[in-house]
Amino acid sequence: MNERIGAAVPGEIVTVDTAVVGSGFAGLGMAVKLDEAGRRDWLILEKGDTLGGTWRDNEYPGCACDVESHLYSFSFRQNPAWTRTFARQPEIRAYLEDVADHYRLRDRIRYGAHVTGAEWDGTGWDVRLADGSTIRARFVVFGTGALHDPAIPDIEGLDRFAGTAFHSAQWDHSRELRGTRVAVIGTGASAVQFVPAIAPDVESLTLFQRTAPWVLPKGDKPISDDARRRYRRFPLLQRLARTALYWRHEVLVAGFMNPRLMKVIGRVATTYLDRSFANDPALKAKVTPDFTIGCKRILLSNDYYPALRRDNVHVETTGIARVTETGVVTADGVEHPCDTIVFGTGFTIADSLSRMTITGRDGAKLGDAWRGGMQALLGTTVAGFPNLFLLTGPNTGLGHSSMVLMIESQIPYVLDAMDTVDRHRATAIDTVRERQDDFNTEVQAKLEKAVWSQGGCNSWYLDEHGRNRTLWPGATFTYRRRTRRIDPADHVLI
Ligand code: NAP
Repeated sequence: MNERIGAAVPGEIVTVDTAVVGSGFAGLGMAVKLDEAGRRDWLILEKGDTLGGTWRDNEYPGCACDVESHLYSFSFRQNPAWTRTFARQPEIRAYLEDVADHYRLRDRIRYGAHVTGAEWDGTGWDVRLADGSTIRARFVVFGTGALHDPAIPDIEGLDRFAGTAFHSAQWDHSRELRGTRVAVIGTGASAVQFVPAIAPDVESLTLFQRTAPWVLPKGDKPISDDARRRYRRFPLLQRLARTALYWRHEVLVAGFMNPRLMKVIGRVATTYLDRSFANDPALKAKVTPDFTIGCKRILLSNDYYPALRRDNVHVETTGIARVTETGVVTADGVEHPCDTIVFGTGFTIADSLSRMTITGRDGAKLGDAWRGGMQALLGTTVAGFPNLFLLTGPNTGLGHSSMVLMIESQIPYVLDAMDTVDRHRATAIDTVRERQDDFNTEVQAKLEKAVWSQGGCNSWYLDEHGRNRTLWPGATFTYRRRTRRIDPADHVLI
């Protein structure tokens, strides 16, 4: 094992050229491409004790991807062995493990490395870890993603609950749910997957729905042995399948950016809703959304609506007032007894990076810089924070396709920035604040007209000021074009 990644010694300082934070798709992809660029002196800092990021943390029953795996994987490491069109979590996690093996990344991943902050001292970054050690790096790349801080609502009485309560991203597998009474809070992309997975086994499931989501059928099916053999023998076939998927997703952008066009998809979803609840108009009324489809993430599922129709499942739409020792009480005073509460309540988005103490030039804090909202240039660099890069940073998320496409656009951009520094024998590259501001003005102008702002819903895409600081307002190919290389006008060398 590489000496640098053994157990940390408090006060220890390890020096590398590039520190990469996180070992999910972003961190691993960055590491592969750093190596390929001959920049082998990097270290991944991973807070967990295994790799995989969100695909390690989210291992709730039924967890799967809602983007097809041929597209939700690295273009440079296609996997002919996917067993389903939409792979399930264990297979995606195994894929990431394979990437780490294939590209020999493992000896440069430091586990249990919880980054608490980073300081720029004029020549490099001191990345602080919770264990008291410091990683000194010229470049820092945050591949920490947006969805890793579980959000548990502050419900009165929750601390007095005598049963078990946990979040979907921290599933308590030691808790046997079979034959017990379960309360589920939330009806987002996670709940829509684990509710059908647990419903057949539990005695009762009360689903607390605050907002009914739009659901479309999922074209999920096994990939036959024959097909997999063909993909292995003729990789071009898989590339073609990927390309077809790419464009099928990409055409949806027009709808997200022009809410009127979403009516077409809305009709498909309404038909699915009508068909699913033809015999139960009361339940249909409860689960019919009241906003434009696409405003919140569109959920794909073949088994969510059937699960809601089960006799042992009850959809509760009255708001939650409090939790008692024995159950959840709704605003109408009714207690819903339960043994376990599962929170499918999503993640705290906005401040996961600003909660770390990241100090840039002249003592500027990222938390302060982002007080009015997260902002970066092309979601990747932030003025005043030289040599610091964000993968899946502000406004790089997607409502319509695979995040891996965005990550693979950002990585060459980051490498070009590093090369620019080296080529000019500079110390660092920083972002021109006016260019960053112009970029964000442009992005916000587009987003104001998009379905996420105009669709009549609230979602984690919007910050507390109602601004969409998470999604990219356009096609992935547009983003790729803009990140092909560093625009010298956007940056200064120092
Ligand atoms: P989410 O989409 O943020 O959904 C959270 C749910 O909890 C919503 O239904 C929300 O209701 C509800 N909720 C939150 N606080 C509540 C409260 N105090 N009382 C009652 N209900 C409350 O979270 P998620 O389902 O974990 O998904 C988050 C994101 O993760 C997704 O949008 C997606 O990007 C990603 N994800 C992806 C996949 C995949 O297949 N690729 C799978 C799972 C998750 P409101 O709607 O009323 O706010």
